[in-house]
Amino acid sequence: KIYCDNAATTALDPEVIDAIIPYLSEDYGNPSSTHWAGRKAKEGVESARRTVAGLLGANPGEIYFTSGATEANNLALTGAIKAYEISHVITSRIEHKAVLQTLRQHEKEGDIEISYVRLDERGNVDTYHLENLLRANPQSLISLMHANNEIGNITNIEAISKLAKRYDAIFHSDTTQTIGKVVFDLSDLEIDFIVGSAHKFHGPKGVGFLYINKKHKIAPQIHGGGQEKGQRGGTENVIGIVGLARALEVACKNHEESQAKVGKLKQYLISKLAISGIEGVCYNGESRSSENSLPNVVSVSFTCLPGGNIVELLDEAGIAVSGGSACSSLGTSHVIAALPCQSEKENVRFSFSKFNTFKEVDQIVETLAGIYGSVRVARQGALQ
Ligand code: PMP
Repeated sequence: KIYCDNAATTALDPEVIDAIIPYLSEDYGNPSSTHWAGRKAKEGVESARRTVAGLLGANPGEIYFTSGATEANNLALTGAIKAYEISHVITSRIEHKAVLQTLRQHEKEGDIEISYVRLDERGNVDTYHLENLLRANPQSLISLMHANNEIGNITNIEAISKLAKRYDAIFHSDTTQTIGKVVFDLSDLEIDFIVGSAHKFHGPKGVGFLYINKKHKIAPQIHGGGQEKGQRGGTENVIGIVGLARALEVACKNHEESQAKVGKLKQYLISKLAISGIEGVCYNGESRSSENSLPNVVSVSFTCLPGGNIVELLDEAGIAVSGGSACSSLGTSHVIAALPCQSEKENVRFSFSKFNTFKEVDQIVETLAGIYGSVRVARQGALQ
């Protein structure tokens, strides 16, 4: 079996498993308890917070643990809209649903108006249009993702953060796909909110974080026992939090090596497809690029293969890939549909991790070539 769907989720790193084992057994205290067991659990959580903050160039007080990036995006957006009484939000049509649906809900309730920034033919933010929108609506909230989970495009968040500052806007970026892959130094980057999700970088599922720049406040959305400095009630997911911090530590420690490896796997897939004999291979967004795109994501439309079931046919051969994103794999992709030069055909997303091999890429391309071969035979049969 081959797992090539690492933008959906990743395997736990063995070092993460080692780090969480004590918290699965003897260190089971509630971090809010004041006795020895509670203190041990609290130290696990606070040490994780220091680790995450240190690796991102943030202060520990700026990191808030959540159940994942969906919750962190909800908390940042709703929390900021309510705390600052924001009435105008700028976003794009290719954001993750965790952002789009949250904003649409606020729009439906009459809290905000949404402007969608124009995208170029490859799905990149048109910064001139963004500036025009900001000129007309200063003090907006901007929500633009760092890397797109379906097509892999990387957004220049440094440039956007400068624009945001110029127009006194708040800048939130969904960084779920870049945390653990791209080096961050938040002390250098004028950004107000970012989010992360451990299962995207070989940590456990159901745990993530929200970074809130210390100059900001939010309106809390989960009320309870005052955990996370009153910003997010509920007993902390100690196991998950410890795993998240270890996963980020491993990702940052081996960053250059693992990113170089996935980058080579990506370029190898692209070069193998080019000589595979499969016709009509189209790359979505910046997928082909090694600079403007995630090093591990390749989004392809196979215009000469039968639409609608390539992912299924690959699955039958034991190869796990995704059509679009895991969250929207049923139905058409809102990301592909929003691209000015949208492809008519099903898109297939291959996403690598450090655990993939070149041999697996060979097998993937051989399987695709086999599917293409049988389609050609069937077509020729139909013509006879
Ligand atoms: N944003 C992006 C860009 C994502 O890729 C994902 C996961 N598909 C999410 C948000 C949601 O993350 P989680 O699974 O932690 O809720």
